[in-house]
Amino acid sequence: HLPTAELQALDAAHHMHPFTANGELAQKGARVITRAKGVYLTDSEGEEILDAMAGLWCVNIGYGRDELADVAARQMRELPYYNTFFQTTHVPAIALANKLAELAPGDLNHVFFAAGGSEANDTNIRMVRTYWANKGQPDKNIIISRKNAYHGSSVGSGSLGGMVHMHAQGGMPIPDIHHIDQPNWWAEGGDMSPEDFGLARAQELEKAILELGEDRVAAFIGEPIQGAGGVIVPPETYWPEIQRICDKYDILLIADEVICGFGRTGDWFGSQTVGIKPHIMTIAKGLSSGYAPIGGSIVCDEVAEVIAGGEFNHGYTYSGHPVAAAVALENLRILEEEGIVDHVRDVAAPYLKEKWEALADHPLVGEAKICGMMASIALTPDKASRAKFATEPGTVGYVCRDRCFANNLVMRHVGDRMIISPPLILTPADIDEMMRRIRKSLDEAHAELVE
Ligand code: PLP
Repeated sequence: HLPTAELQALDAAHHMHPFTANGELAQKGARVITRAKGVYLTDSEGEEILDAMAGLWCVNIGYGRDELADVAARQMRELPYYNTFFQTTHVPAIALANKLAELAPGDLNHVFFAAGGSEANDTNIRMVRTYWANKGQPDKNIIISRKNAYHGSSVGSGSLGGMVHMHAQGGMPIPDIHHIDQPNWWAEGGDMSPEDFGLARAQELEKAILELGEDRVAAFIGEPIQGAGGVIVPPETYWPEIQRICDKYDILLIADEVICGFGRTGDWFGSQTVGIKPHIMTIAKGLSSGYAPIGGSIVCDEVAEVIAGGEFNHGYTYSGHPVAAAVALENLRILEEEGIVDHVRDVAAPYLKEKWEALADHPLVGEAKICGMMASIALTPDKASRAKFATEPGTVGYVCRDRCFANNLVMRHVGDRMIISPPLILTPADIDEMMRRIRKSLDEAHAELVE
């Protein structure tokens, strides 16, 4: 291919990057990724980069699995596309829906496909409102979510999300979405114990339901472990209380499993790790390990039956796309047959946890939190007071992220938190190498910022 500088110039000229200050990127030039294998990316200069984010939290089985490429090629030759609207179906969608019904806990037995997580959460908004309307309660249409949650980037899913910098662009949130506070003890817990704080934050849901009216609130949505908000692992008291409140007030519970699903937390689904029984789960990302764009909503019997009582005027050209569905099915076969979820639970996550929690001894690090193979550190100038660094561009998170990238490690930052979500196939040796690069980058950032 063309030399790196030329590729960068062409990229800057014609390509608008998501979630990027494109003018600034054009100045320095985007790094061009050309290949990937296992947990390593290769760039156009031949540098090998350890991908501690698994792309965007999605390449659960790692890069470069030929089986998925072979399945995609076979499916493209046999039936590259057909839709599942009106009166037709096809084998990959049938097989994938059945497999997901088998893997998903409880009576989550029905799948509505989409091309990703944002579309699936848009489906959920319309599905829960249609559910209550079909039951004769059309005013029960408010969905409660959380500040600093991420549920996607479309107008609907972005409204469910609680990212104020997103809301500020493009007229979000849409009506009848309500946000309560997040269970982020480090940043917002003050003098409370984590346990009391978890309970208090969950009880905000009850307060909101009572204020808004039991007959107005349709559903609550949350990521079992908040991902893009900074890998916020809630205190153990949080989710059981949320479940109690949803049950008490007859509120549908939606678990957004887009990051947590398919082994990330050490179970097949994050709902199992935090002990909740959702009515609907949003899935995407790890469903195909990112090899093909596919997502969906896995829905319980009761909701599916009520929706089936009428026509649901909703769907996407690529709902259940045969190539994406075949790739997802092959990905699930690999996850299952190679015992990758067991590997996370029994080998990778316990090993990573020990190394990760030891990061708390670093002078820049406050708390070090981990759940399965997603983890975060809070950066602080003073551990005792849990003081915050500034989070504007050019400050601590950006410095750490750039140091990591310069050390050939992809690690992301959110404000003053640094986060990882590596491929699930990481071995203890890979973890050692990742931790070596993280510590080196933190030391360099400390020298630049503090010393
Ligand atoms: N939900 C969660 C929890 C996510 O993390 C994301 C993406 O990061 C989404 C939804 C949106 O998924 P997509 O980018 O596939 O639309």
